[in-house]
Amino acid sequence: MIELNRRTFLKGAGASGATCALASLLPGSLAALENKQLKGMGKDIASICEMCSTRCPISARVIEGKNVFITGNKAAKSFGGKVCARGGAGHSLLYDPQRIVQPLKRVGERGEGKWAEISWDEAYQLIAENLNKIKKEHGPEAVAFSSKSGSQEKHLFHLATAFGSPNTFTHASTCPGGYEIAAKAIFGTKVKRDLSNSKYIINFGHNLYEGINMSETRGMMAAQMDKGAKLVVFEPRFSVVADKADEWYAIRPGTDVAVALALCHVLIEDNLYDKAFVARYVEGFDAFAAEVKAYTP
Ligand code: SF4
Repeated sequence: MIELNRRTFLKGAGASGATCALASLLPGSLAALENKQLKGMGKDIASICEMCSTRCPISARVIEGKNVFITGNKAAKSFGGKVCARGGAGHSLLYDPQRIVQPLKRVGERGEGKWAEISWDEAYQLIAENLNKIKKEHGPEAVAFSSKSGSQEKHLFHLATAFGSPNTFTHASTCPGGYEIAAKAIFGTKVKRDLSNSKYIINFGHNLYEGINMSETRGMMAAQMDKGAKLVVFEPRFSVVADKADEWYAIRPGTDVAVALALCHVLIEDNLYDKAFVARYVEGFDAFAAEVKAYTP
């Protein structure tokens, strides 16, 4: 049985003899604990992490209807039964006192920060009136519908279709969409990054170690820690992934492509590339080599 409140949690966290129950709770659990004591046995409920678009399977410990701890679902082998730090702190978002759980209507000037809570009925009424006004004055295409990608997006996009707008987008439109289109153009198909078997990883600002995409993060960790892979990071910010790199280059923001082309320039000029691979798999290499001639380091 776990009996905790904010006061005992803080006391316990500072004491050297903290119990296992205390040690297993993350600081974010504080948000879930009210002044009254939590009593009773916890239940572990299988669920999905919604903290990013990877949606890792999780196991959420619930005591008296409150989620106090999140860990990976051990049955989800391909995710390693683990969550990242962001996923483990999911309950902090759930119980954050500043979380918006009611529709808000701006009542001051734009930027003034003045809002009033309204009912869901009033919110839907307002949205419908404004959507129909825009449709009448500018046509349905004037409205773009944007959703977090995932299981809910289809509901919003069905509404977009019914409304008459083809303009829909999600996180996937810019993030995975970008590399999927690039991969199709270059390789003719999708690419899967095999980080766990890589010996040398060149990373342009893909900050896996700050909490996203568990399977790739674990793969990169395993490659670095168990197999001695070398990690080189090009990024303006000294991020967590930069901190874990063998080499970090603080390039100026927006110069990633120039750096990549300069790398290609050196590989070709200094004859460091795999000629057999290029001969077998690459089309248009001579034109590419001529193009990158100008991109000196
Ligand atoms: S990568 Fe982290 S934040 Fe994203 S779904 Fe998995 S556990 Fe949640």
